[in-house]
Order: sequence, then C-alpha cells, then structure tokens
Amino acid sequence: MTEIIDGNAVASEIRDDLTDAIETLANAGSRPGLATVLMGDDPASETYVNMKQRDCEEVGIESVHVDVDGDAPAEELFDEIAALNENDDVHGYIVQAPVPDHVDYREVIRRVDPAKDVDGFHPENVGRLVAGDARFRPCTPHGVQKLLESAGVDLEGADVTIVGRSDIVGKPLANLLIQKAEDGNATVTVCHSRTQDLAAKTRSADVVVAAVGVPELVDGSMIDDGAVVIDVGVNRVDADTEKGYELVGDVEFESTKEKASAITPVPGGVGPMTRAMLLYNTVKAASLQEGVDVDL
Ligand code: NDP
Repeated sequence: MTEIIDGNAVASEIRDDLTDAIETLANAGSRPGLATVLMGDDPASETYVNMKQRDCEEVGIESVHVDVDGDAPAEELFDEIAALNENDDVHGYIVQAPVPDHVDYREVIRRVDPAKDVDGFHPENVGRLVAGDARFRPCTPHGVQKLLESAGVDLEGADVTIVGRSDIVGKPLANLLIQKAEDGNATVTVCHSRTQDLAAKTRSADVVVAAVGVPELVDGSMIDDGAVVIDVGVNRVDADTEKGYELVGDVEFESTKEKASAITPVPGGVGPMTRAMLLYNTVKAASLQEGVDVDL
C-alpha cells in the first residue's frame, strides 16, 4: 500500500510546535515579525503574499506588508529594504520573486540583512548552508527534509536523485542531503535539462525529488519499485474546471503511485511545507535577534 505523504498534516504539526516557541518569546516580551515585500502586481505573487500574511496571523506572528510600484526605480525597493533592515520589529522578511525586469534580483538579495533573510538566499546564508552551518534552511528544501522525516525515510547511505538544479530548490536540497548529519548522509545525484538518460538516474534512486516545472515529467516507468517520490512542482494546466485550469506536479501521480512506497500529492504535499518553514525561519530569526532560546 503506497503511503500518500500528507503535507497539510505535517505542516500543521510544525505550526503547533511553533506556537509553543512563540509563547516562549512572548513571555520574554517579544513577538516575531515577518514582512513581505511585493514589487509590481503579479496576481500569483499577490496570492502567495496574502497566504503568507494569513499564515502569520494564525500562529501569532506580526505581519507587515510593503508594496512597491512595479514601474518605480530599483532604488525605491532598495530604500524599503534598508528600512526593513533597520526595523527592530521585523525579524525576517522576504522580497517576493519575480521582481520586474529592470531590477537585479541578485542585488536585491545582497541588500537583505543576512540575519533577516528568512528565505535563506543571501550569499552569506548560502555559504553557511554549504559549510554545514546553516542559519536559515531555504523553506522548500527544509520542507522536503521534514516530509522525508515524517515518512520515516532513512537517508543514511540512500541514493537520492533530484531533478532540477535551481538556487531555491535543487541546489540547496542537494547540499542539505549530503551533509554529515542525521537528516543528511545521502548520496545525491542532481539532474537538469542537459542530463543524459534522466530515467536511468531516477530509476536507480531510493528517493526521487522532482523540482522541474514541467508538468508530469516523471512517471511510473522512471521509478524503482518501493522508491519514495517527492513532487515539488506546481504547474497550471488548462482544464475544464471553474477556474479554467488545474494544478499538477512534475510527477505523473497515478502511474508513479503504482511503483512508489510513498509519494507526495499536488496540491497538499510540498506546498504547505514551504509556507510552514517560512514561519519556522521567522521564529528562529526572532529567537536569534532577541537572544531568547526556543525549542525548534
Ligand atoms: P527553475 O525553473 O528555477 O528550475 C527548474 C530546473 O529543472 C532547472 O535546473 C532545469 O534545468 C531543470 N529542467 C527543466 N526541464 C528539464 C527536463 N526536461 N529534464 C530535466 N531537468 C529539467 O524552477 P524552480 O526550482 O524554481 O521550481 C521547480 C518547480 O517547483 C516549479 O513547478 C515551481 O512552481 C515549483 N515550486 C514549488 C514550490 C512549493 O512550495 N511547492 C516552491 C518552489 C518551486 P536547467 O538548469 O538546465 O535549466
């Protein structure tokens, strides 16, 4: 019987644990604060930002939102970033990607105070992660680790194939899973658009993580019997629904479920975990900045 890994349930447990940590901070006179910055009016980004604000309210994190006009010069965004770096009530913040074309996203990331970089994208935080001394684990890879833990996957010596090498998912996840650590110690293969014979690489893996952005690229024929499959992908495909589309992952669910021992669904798998881990990083940022030990 294939286990369907329930991301909503695991995310809810993480939020419950955070409530205790937030109470500890409150007893010490501090309330964690997260800011979201949105430049422009991309509808998908607006939805993501609204969800993050709602998540904060639910667990008792103070949330602040900053809008920057999409046509404004980059300096206007940089000024908002500088102000957030100085604001003691904001322990962490994210600049929602993508930013407009005239703004250099790398420069945006470089300007974020690394201590408030709850996405974990600043070069200092990337370097610390690679060195095995992560301050903030990027939210999606961290969420994948928590899902593997919840499914009881023993990563020690396991062969993991990650499809996708992006800076926000594939690369940091590979770095985390090869760490000499309880939730690491795996042997990791990272695939991308130039990889030859992708199916051979996924078929030889105990764990396959798909983070590609290509609907249903991975199917059951590419999976070994009993493998664990984590589907990071979120793709809108045209469908005869009220909204005119439906969300599908990078994994073809039905055929893969036949082969896998455990698999995440889309939606309801990695997505809720990414959101929960942002709250986690915000609480961690508050704990570090306020000098209050919390149990995370
Ligand atoms: P990117 O577009 O940044 O990276 C995609 C990666 O997939 C690249 O490394 C690319 O290779 C590789 N790739 C593309 N086509 C193929 C192919 N045919 N065979 C093998 N590799 C291929 O995407 P992200 O990492 O940002 O996102 C990946 C997916 O995950 C998307 O669907 C996104 O929406 C979703 N996502 C979901 C999140 C969640 O919370 N659930 C969070 C973040 C992302 P190359 O480098 O050579 O171009």
